[in-house]
Amino acid sequence: MKTVISPNTGIKPVTATVNARGHLEIGGCDTVELAEKFGTPLWILDEETIRLSAAACLKGLKGYPDARVLYAGKAFLCTAMCRLIDKLGLGLDVVSLGELHTAANARFPHEKTYLHGNNKARAEIEEALKQGINIVIDSFDEAKYVVQCAAAVGATAKVLIRVTPGVEPDTHQHIKTGQHDSKFGLPLESVPELARFISTSKNMELRGLHAHIGSQSGDVEPYLKVVDILADLIDGLKKEHNIEISDLDLGGGLGIAYTEKDRPFPMFDWSHAVSERVKQAFSQRGLSLPVLMLEPGRSIVGTAGVTLYRAGYRKTMGNQTNYLGLDGGMADNPRPITYQAEYTACVANRMNAQKPVDPITLVGRYCESGDIIIKEAYLPADSGDLLAIFATGAYNYSMASNYNRTPRPACVLVANGQADIIIERESIDDLVRQDRVPDRLAEGTHQ
Ligand code: PLP
Repeated sequence: MKTVISPNTGIKPVTATVNARGHLEIGGCDTVELAEKFGTPLWILDEETIRLSAAACLKGLKGYPDARVLYAGKAFLCTAMCRLIDKLGLGLDVVSLGELHTAANARFPHEKTYLHGNNKARAEIEEALKQGINIVIDSFDEAKYVVQCAAAVGATAKVLIRVTPGVEPDTHQHIKTGQHDSKFGLPLESVPELARFISTSKNMELRGLHAHIGSQSGDVEPYLKVVDILADLIDGLKKEHNIEISDLDLGGGLGIAYTEKDRPFPMFDWSHAVSERVKQAFSQRGLSLPVLMLEPGRSIVGTAGVTLYRAGYRKTMGNQTNYLGLDGGMADNPRPITYQAEYTACVANRMNAQKPVDPITLVGRYCESGDIIIKEAYLPADSGDLLAIFATGAYNYSMASNYNRTPRPACVLVANGQADIIIERESIDDLVRQDRVPDRLAEGTHQ
């Protein structure tokens, strides 16, 4: 078989090159020109990297009779992304009314959409039921609520049960979800009772089990363990409770490379290894093969993303630390301050310049000391340069805020030398659009 490119193993988008002018080029677009045309900070997404990531995941599943890849929209979602995901043949995992609405805006197929969340709002459940979207049940209480809502709207809820398998990937505490004590899902021992409840409810159809153990996982072993645990559970449900499970969703969480130190497990090998284990585990137990689903988010879109910043002032402190301020930071990328996430950067307008001996600290412009994008970057960067930070496609836009009342940047999708805005830059007026002033504070009134 030809080598399959798994973009999650490289820090940069697959199309990243240096052009004759010594500028960073992505998707055939000169990043210096992108910054001039669209302004900074700017999120860039490389379409080819997303396409190859999706293809790698799907190829790994080729030998499995019925497997689906659901893109986890929480990593990055907008209407154009939904369209692209649909074109690539993926389904979609959503967790909010906003994500449901985005999918609807893109006319994303309902039957390929799955609603997750540990505390779904009534409006989200009702919307999912009306649209025939699959619901991943997180608790017994929620199941009871979904039955009521389904009866009220005259629908049959197609559901999966989220299970906490007690398996932990090696990742940051805040993004582990599969351990015994988690806010997500139900413990294994509670599943039979809930499965019985669902199977005997008139307005519910039990389709499957779901588990997601965490995010930015560097290894496949935890997933293989989950397969064995869930195969045992499904075996028990069939033999002891006469309940058939047809779908098995093993979640997402595959890691990507942010720095040279990271050694992520390649996307193709991940989906291949997991699907082979499912075949093995289910045939060993004499079970028919379930419809297999994987839900990668970060590993589909992470390395496709690059953020461009314009460098502002530079200063050297008494301890010789060199600071270079960027025109963005924690509001467009909260991962460093939240998870101590590390990144790799380059000077996009002078790619061939010599690296300095001393490091520079790239800091954001927001009012938090922890707003540091890269602590020690060996870059020939100075005021006015264009800095590109790699691997910012996942959990940057989706976790961005308006901290310090700063408008969120624009996002452009690049492909074959063309750059299209897929999310407009917020304006300064957008920031006051929702503001209201009580009469007693109106101008000219004094206490
Ligand atoms: N599925 C579920 C239920 C999740 O909670 C998440 C992320 O937290 C994902 C999939 C996607 O994870 P990742 O983006 O790490 O692949």
